[in-house]
Amino acid sequence: MTLVRFQMCIDGQWRDAQSGKTFDSLNPATAQAWAQLPDADEADVELAVQAAQRAFDSKEWRSITATARGKLLRRLGDLIAENKEHLAQLESRDNGKLIRETRGQVGYLPEFFHYTAGLADKLEGGTLPLDKPDLFAYTVHEPIGVVAGIIPWNSPLYLTAIKLAPALAAGNTIVLKPSEHASATILELARLAHEAGFPPGVVNVVTGYGPSTGAALTRHPLVRKIAFTGGAATARHVVRSSAENFAKLSLELGGKSPNIIFADADLDSAINGAVAGIYAASGQSCVAGSRLLVQDEIFDDFVERLIARAKRIRIGSPQDDASEMGPMATAQQLAVVEGLVAAAKAEGAKLHMGGKRAEVEGDGWFYEPTLFECDSNSMTIMQEEVFGPVAAVIRFKTEEEALAMANDSQFGLAAGIWTRDLGRAHRLARDVRSGIIWVNTYRAVSAMAPIGGFKNSGYGRESGIDSVLAYTELKTVWINLSTAPMPDPFVMR
Ligand code: NAD
Repeated sequence: MTLVRFQMCIDGQWRDAQSGKTFDSLNPATAQAWAQLPDADEADVELAVQAAQRAFDSKEWRSITATARGKLLRRLGDLIAENKEHLAQLESRDNGKLIRETRGQVGYLPEFFHYTAGLADKLEGGTLPLDKPDLFAYTVHEPIGVVAGIIPWNSPLYLTAIKLAPALAAGNTIVLKPSEHASATILELARLAHEAGFPPGVVNVVTGYGPSTGAALTRHPLVRKIAFTGGAATARHVVRSSAENFAKLSLELGGKSPNIIFADADLDSAINGAVAGIYAASGQSCVAGSRLLVQDEIFDDFVERLIARAKRIRIGSPQDDASEMGPMATAQQLAVVEGLVAAAKAEGAKLHMGGKRAEVEGDGWFYEPTLFECDSNSMTIMQEEVFGPVAAVIRFKTEEEALAMANDSQFGLAAGIWTRDLGRAHRLARDVRSGIIWVNTYRAVSAMAPIGGFKNSGYGRESGIDSVLAYTELKTVWINLSTAPMPDPFVMR
């Protein structure tokens, strides 16, 4: 099979790595290589960061008004809408996500650009009501400089959009480093950004591996902000790199999100919510509802109905409209899932279904929807992120017990609460230590709604009205109004 060849985008030009090295991207549904990409090293990263810095300093980018930046973002959103089928097909092929899911995600993608476009010229500073009558002061939001965007493989376009749009709205320039497992759509996005009219060097993409390309980018002294989405172990490297020049950081990391189902819940909805939480996207979602906390009275009924529904899930080619679950995105991820399933079995978790690879024609990395029952929240399968279609279910008796288990986690990204009791819904929404709470729904996303985590799920928030502020520096300007000579220089004014 002939491989599709991609080039990187640096300073508005399409280039190979200077070393000439490449790597292959594999199609998860077939385990076969389908694309070849440049393997960028330090020298390529240097070119990209220097281009981004030059663009940041350039009169051309600096003199574009915030309103005009908003218009460019709006145009980019429109171009994404025009190219949505192409982008959806490409992402599905590259990371193995269902075409029905990538169509949904790409269909919504323009909203992130349109919404953020509207924020570009609303970054108002303030005039300060100073307690010093001879002085006047105001604040201004200014861009930070060169931003590094580090992206994982599970939802590359979405996770790039929530970094790229606010970074550009605020007037920064950016170098994106997509995952070595799913880079194709981010290169397409860069092509559309240039078509929309962003000047050369404002949006750059370098492709390659994390420890080489990614590390060279995050430790580069000209990078002033790193927006990272990925795993905790990688994040620790990134935090260390940022210490070199105190680059600002946002970290969107993993989760072990509790989906808490009370006896008074609408059970049909809760079962759909449980399926959406853990089997949609084959569980390869940071917000996966991988811990199912179910109240005693309905426990057996819930488990039986969940198994019946999960057994009907159609596992198959991600490009087939009828498929409901596709493969794991990488062979490594499949190995992680298999390792954690083996550990759960060894620790004595009760396997209700799955626990093995799914039989699908070809060599793809398919895994069956899996359910373990646990008798303790401290079991590994209740505590470690799997990032696969593996749920762990546990029973609870009281609301207090459910809350204690929900919060007994190193993570705090999302939580689902299923109840008809309004007071209880609000109590738990207040007391569960997570960045996102969904009541009687799951996996809802909006350009207007911030996402991000508590505890080891990271820090910083993306999306929403404050997202652009995270890409700005605040400057305070002081003006002396007095006609008198400057007072005593040895006393603070
Ligand atoms: P990962 O941490 O392996 O990789 C993420 C990115 O970091 C990739 O581009 C990779 O090449 C790069 N990278 C790797 N080593 C690096 C280094 N030393 N320096 C700089 N960059 C480096 O994550 P993944 O396997 O691609 O994605 C899965 C993880 O991402 C899961 O833990 C998941 O929960 C998390 N995630 C979080 C969110 C969220 O919004 N909170 C969303 C999606 C995924």
